[in-house]
Amino acid sequence: MKVHDGMYTGGRWTPAAGDDTIAVVNPADERVIAHVPAGTAEDVDAAVRAARAALPGWAATPPAGRAALIAALRDRLAARTDEIAATVTAELGAPEQFARQVHVGLPVAVAGSYAELAAGHPFEERIGNSTVLHEPVGVVGAITPWNYPLHQIVAKVAPALAAGCTVVLKPAEDTPLTARLFAEAVHEAGLPAGVFNLVTGLGPVAGQALAAHEGVDLVSFTGSTAVGRRIGATAGGAVKRVALELGGKSANVILPSADLAKAVAVGVANVMSNAGQTCSAWTRMLVHTDRYEEAVELAKAAVAKYPVGERVGPLVSARQRDRVRGYIEQGVAEGARLVAGGAGAPLERGYYVAPTVFADVTPEMTIAQEEIFGPVLSLLRYEDEEDALRIANGTVYGLAGAVWAGDEAEAVAFARRLETGQVDINGGRFNPLAPFGGYKQSGVGRELGPHGLAEYLQTKSLQF
Ligand code: NAD
Repeated sequence: MKVHDGMYTGGRWTPAAGDDTIAVVNPADERVIAHVPAGTAEDVDAAVRAARAALPGWAATPPAGRAALIAALRDRLAARTDEIAATVTAELGAPEQFARQVHVGLPVAVAGSYAELAAGHPFEERIGNSTVLHEPVGVVGAITPWNYPLHQIVAKVAPALAAGCTVVLKPAEDTPLTARLFAEAVHEAGLPAGVFNLVTGLGPVAGQALAAHEGVDLVSFTGSTAVGRRIGATAGGAVKRVALELGGKSANVILPSADLAKAVAVGVANVMSNAGQTCSAWTRMLVHTDRYEEAVELAKAAVAKYPVGERVGPLVSARQRDRVRGYIEQGVAEGARLVAGGAGAPLERGYYVAPTVFADVTPEMTIAQEEIFGPVLSLLRYEDEEDALRIANGTVYGLAGAVWAGDEAEAVAFARRLETGQVDINGGRFNPLAPFGGYKQSGVGRELGPHGLAEYLQTKSLQF
């Protein structure tokens, strides 16, 4: 077991202000694998000061110079793929192949995209007799969750750096080891001291201190809606910028003309990926009543291909496992039909939940409304297209979704009516350059690609 004692601030590892630590647990075997310091308001303050001190120099670094250092960071992350993937497996429980391909592969691609975008972004534009300058917002406080530990960090830090902002990161307490590796990569890439700073710690202590710090100009948060609401209120009170990436309850709408077998198979894979701990997961499958029982049988057969402990890893923590089990029990209690899985422990050790499929789920049930964040799929039945639309749009969320139809134009026409930030048409691939973010209570702001970069800029107009 490793005991870490430092925070990364001002370009070096410095001892934490206090003595408290956080135990990092491997969710597959429930063993403590490391301790990291639990940062305090004092640590956050030191990190914010370092970020402020580094801001003028970094903001004045030409975009090509920033781009070169982001490219170097991408290269360092790629070079350490094995170590980062093993760390994500150890602290999150992700299966090895998924850890390499998605948990490391995706953020490496995103970091690469920002090296390119930083170099080519129009930081100046001409509008009539004005020159509009797109300038960095300033010091960014980034608060990230554990579900995609490296991706969530890179999706905030890379565009912030590309924009010329400096950053203080408070990563999730469940997955701080990946964040430490990220800080090491930043250091190896040669970013100037203070441009990126890391404070590990608990949300209500270090996270709260960062969100409330007057030296932070923009707070970018990804996590639960409950915490996001508080952070939004704190930022609003201080009149500072805020970006919130919150939960989802996305609908996978299978129209009657669709290839049902394909739509169900891809839909099940989508929900089981990362043990269901994905904010954009299509956790509600909507099927026309005429083909509903056929879809239930297909889903039952598809989920059997996801053995727990192999393709489906454990949930991140005992707390998260208990939460998910509670939802499964509630689904049964509210009258949904359990087709596969259930609340029982599928393995003797580890925070595992069996891949679970519910049929006969109705729109008002708790499992059809609330984000479960586990390997749990609900199948809902609709009578006609208007009914499907009402059900799909009938939650407080609006993060992602899918539409399947025999004809692409038919799927697109339906997608236009969905209140959600992303829709995959007939299984369209994830695009790391497309804006990602929510309608309604799924959030404020967008991440990834040029839209993600624009979040970290503010404009100044010069009139001639
Ligand atoms: P959370 O919102 O509590 O934690 C996310 C981050 O916010 C962590 O870094 C945490 O330390 C920090 N945080 C917590 N309280 C804070 C506070 N008062 N001030 C500032 N920062 C604070 O999420 P969780 O408890 O880890 O997960 C709970 C639920 O949130 C999940 O079941 C899931 O539904 C949802 N979730 C969504 C996403 C997403 O990507 N949208 C990611 C993780 C969790």
